Amino acid sequence: MTFAEILLPLPLQGTFTYSVPPEMSAQVCPGHRVIVPFGAKKFYTGIVTGFAPREPEGFEVKPVSQVLDTAPIVRHPQLKFWNWLADYYLCSPGEVYKAALPAGLKIESETYIDINPDFEEDTNHRLSEREVMILHILAHAEKRMSMADLAEASGFRNVASLTARLMERGAVMVSEKLVERYRPKRETYVEVALDRYNSEAVHTAFDVISSSPRQEKAFLTLLEMSGFLRKDIDLREVTKKELLERAEVSPAIISALETRGLVRQVKKSVSRFDPTELPDGELPTLSAAQDAALREIHLSWKEKDVTLLHGVTSSGKTEIYIHLIDFVLRQGRQALFLVPEIALTTQLTRRLQRVFGDKVLIYHSKFSDNERVELWRRMLDDNSPRVVIGARSSVFLPFANLGIVIVDEEHESSYKQQDPAPRYNGRDAAVVLAGMHGAKVLLGSATPAIDTYYKALSGRFGLVSLTERYEGVELPRMEIVDLTLARKKGQTYGALTLDLKQKITDALQRGEQVILFQNRRGFSPVARCGMCGYVPRCENCDVALTYHKSIDKLVCHYCGTAYELPRSCPACHEPDINPVGYGTERVENEIEFAFPDTQIARMDLDTTRNKDGYATIIENFSQRKSQILVGTQMVTKGLDFDGVSQVGIINADSMINIPDFRGAERAFCLIEQVAGRAGRRGSLKGQVTIQTYQPEHPLFEHLLRHDYNGFYESEIAERREFNYPPFTRLVYIYLKHRDERAVENLAAAYSTCLRNLFGTRVQGPDTPYVSRIQNLFIRRIMLKIEVSASMPKVKEILRKLREDMHAAGALKGAVVYYDVDPM
Ligand code: ADP
Ligand code: ZN
Repeated sequence: MTFAEILLPLPLQGTFTYSVPPEMSAQVCPGHRVIVPFGAKKFYTGIVTGFAPREPEGFEVKPVSQVLDTAPIVRHPQLKFWNWLADYYLCSPGEVYKAALPAGLKIESETYIDINPDFEEDTNHRLSEREVMILHILAHAEKRMSMADLAEASGFRNVASLTARLMERGAVMVSEKLVERYRPKRETYVEVALDRYNSEAVHTAFDVISSSPRQEKAFLTLLEMSGFLRKDIDLREVTKKELLERAEVSPAIISALETRGLVRQVKKSVSRFDPTELPDGELPTLSAAQDAALREIHLSWKEKDVTLLHGVTSSGKTEIYIHLIDFVLRQGRQALFLVPEIALTTQLTRRLQRVFGDKVLIYHSKFSDNERVELWRRMLDDNSPRVVIGARSSVFLPFANLGIVIVDEEHESSYKQQDPAPRYNGRDAAVVLAGMHGAKVLLGSATPAIDTYYKALSGRFGLVSLTERYEGVELPRMEIVDLTLARKKGQTYGALTLDLKQKITDALQRGEQVILFQNRRGFSPVARCGMCGYVPRCENCDVALTYHKSIDKLVCHYCGTAYELPRSCPACHEPDINPVGYGTERVENEIEFAFPDTQIARMDLDTTRNKDGYATIIENFSQRKSQILVGTQMVTKGLDFDGVSQVGIINADSMINIPDFRGAERAFCLIEQVAGRAGRRGSLKGQVTIQTYQPEHPLFEHLLRHDYNGFYESEIAERREFNYPPFTRLVYIYLKHRDERAVENLAAAYSTCLRNLFGTRVQGPDTPYVSRIQNLFIRRIMLKIEVSASMPKVKEILRKLREDMHAAGALKGAVVYYDVDPM
C-alpha cells in the first residue's frame, strides 16, 4: 500500500495523507487531481504533491476515492510557487491552491437535504418554529435542495445546525453529492441528412418542400453554406445560429425540415475560444530613444533579473514591451504581460494581436469560470510560444517556459489582492515566479512606486529611463483651479468651474476629446437631511450610503446592500433628505445638460459589469463616437486615445487627503497618470485642469512640473524619517468580530502578546476609517520590522502566535489574518 500526500483547498496548514488503493496506484502521481473524503462527510478535489514514506500513525488513514487525471493539472514550478506565496503572505498552501485553480477544476461535494416522507412528529417533543419552517421549505421545493439553497431560501444563518437537529429526529436525510461545475459549451449544428453523392435525393427533397418557401429557403441556404453540392470541397460545419441568421427563418422551420428527414440537428461540445487564426504582423519601428532604451534593458538584464523602465506617459513603453516579447517568443519561450486593470486589456490585446496574431491569450476575472478552465487546459496541452495578457491572477497559469514577465503600471495598488487569502501583490509574486522560470522581468511605469524606485536607485533593480514622449510631443500643461474662490465668485456650474467648462467647450469646438475624472461612483457619495444633518448609513457597515440615481436607491459600496431613499428624515421627520456631493453618475448628468449636443460616455464599476462593458466604451471613445469620457480611476491609467486634449479632475481633495503613509504617493501617481491621457499626439496641446479646495497643497508643486524625481526625493525623506517602507517592512494584523467588545478585548490581548515578542515595533491596535464591514467590527495592529531583520523568523513567530491563540480558544468567533506588505 502506498500513501499519498494531498493538498486540499482549505485554510489548513500542510498536506493530508491518504492511502492509495492498488488499482489506482498507477494514476496517483504528483500534480494529478484526486477526490478525497475530508471531515465528517465532505469530499474535495485535492492535488497529489508527493508520497509519504510510511503509513502515518495515530489516526485512521482514509483511501483516495477517485483519480481525476491521467496527466498533471499543474506543472513545475507551480506547486513550488504556491508554497512560496503561502509562506511569504502567511496563509496556507491550500488557500493559494483554491485561488489558483479555476473553480471548474475543483469538484467539491455539496450537502443535499431531503425530507423524510414517513416522519411523524413526536407530540412530546415539538419541533421549533424554525425547524418547522425548514421542513415547509423542503416540502414545497421544486428541486432537490443543497445546504446553500436552503440557507438562501430560509434566510437563516444556522441552517447547518437546524438540519443536524432535524436529522437526529429523523425528519430529514442528508447526503453528499459531487458537483462538477465545469460545463462544456454546447452548440447545435445543422447537417444535411441526405447522401451527398445521390443527386436524385436532393431533387426529390426540393419537390417535397416546394410548397413551403421558407423551408425551401432554409434548405437552400444550408446547402450553400455547408458546400454540400460542391463535391470538390470538404463539408463545412454550420451552426444553427448561423443558419437561422442567414436564412432569416425561425427555428420551427429547421424542425420541420428535420421531421421530413432532410436535415439533422446535432449538439456538439465546442471551445469557448474564437477559433479564427490571426496572422502575425509587423513589429513597430522604434524611435532612436526607444531603441536605445531597448538596448539598455537587454544590457541591464545581463546583470540584474529585474529592470525598471521609468518612461514618461506616452513615451512608447508599450512599443518597447512588444519588441521584448517578440525577442522571447522567437526563442520559443512564453511571455506574461501583467496589467493592473481589466479595462487595459482591451486596447493592449488589439495592439499585441496586430503583431503576435493568435499567440495572444487573455486571462482575467471577467471571463467565466468555464472559459478559464479551457484556457488552463489549453496552456497545459501546448508548450508553444504565447503571450498572456492578464490581471494579477494570471501568475497562476500553467506556463511551460516563461521567458519574460512585463508588469505594466507597476506602481498600481490594484496589483495587491485584499481579500481573500492569499493577500499577494501580483507584481512581487510575478518577480518570484519569473525567478523560478529563469525569466527576466521588466517593471514599467511613468510614476514608479516609491519602493520600486528606491530599489532601482540602490542597485537592486536595473533602471532605464525614457524622458521624452514619442515624437517629442510635449507633456500636458497642468493648471490648478481654486474651488473656494470659484464658489465665492459664483463662477461654477454644478461640479464644474466656469474655467473648466470653458476649456471643455474650446476643446470640443476644435473637434478634440475630453476626459473627466472623479474618484467616486454613483450619483452622490452621501445623502443628507437639510434640516438636521442626518446621514443615512449602512446597517451592516460603518459607512454613509451612496445615492444611485439610475436605480433611485441608496447603496452600500462595502456590502452592496441597497436601500430605499427615505422620503422623510428618520431623525427629524422633515421631508428634506437630499443627495450631496458628486459621483461620476452626477457629473455625467450635469455634463449632459451643459453640452446637450455632445456624446458622453461613463466608465466606472456600474457601467462595466458585463464582460464587454469596457470594450464597448473604449472602442466608441477611440472611434470618436463619444466626445467626453467621465470615469473613476479606470479612465486614468494606461489608455491610449489619440483625440484627447483636455483632462479635467473634478475634485482632487479626496485624493490628497488620504490619511495613510502612501496617500501622497497614490495621489501623485493618479493625477500624473490621468494627466498622461492628454495630448498624446503631436497635433494636440495637452491641458490638465485640476479643481481643488487646497491649491496650496505641496503635492501640486511637483505635479505642475511633472517632476517625479522631486516628488520622490521629498517622499523618500519622509519615509526615512518616519520609518516606513522601503526602510521597514510592514505586516498588518486584522482582527474582526461581530461583537465590538469581543474584538476590543481580542485586539488588546493580541497586541500585548505581540509587544512581548516585538517590543516597540508594534503599533496599535487602532480602529480603521471604516471600522465595521458586513457586521464585523474591525481592529488593526501594525508591525514595522527593520529591513535587516530576518523576515522568515518574524513570520514563524507570527504563525506560532496565531496557532497558540487559536489553541487557547482566544480566536473563537473571530476572523484574524495577516496582511504582509499591505497597500
Ligand atoms: P506609453 O506606454 O509609454 O504610455 P505608448 O506605447 O502607448 O506609450 O505610446 C504612445 C503612443 O505613441 C501610442 O499611440 C503609440 O502607438 C505611439 N508610438 C509610440 N512609439 C511608437 C513607434 N515607435 N512607432 C509608432 N508609434 C509609436
Ligand atoms: Zn454595507
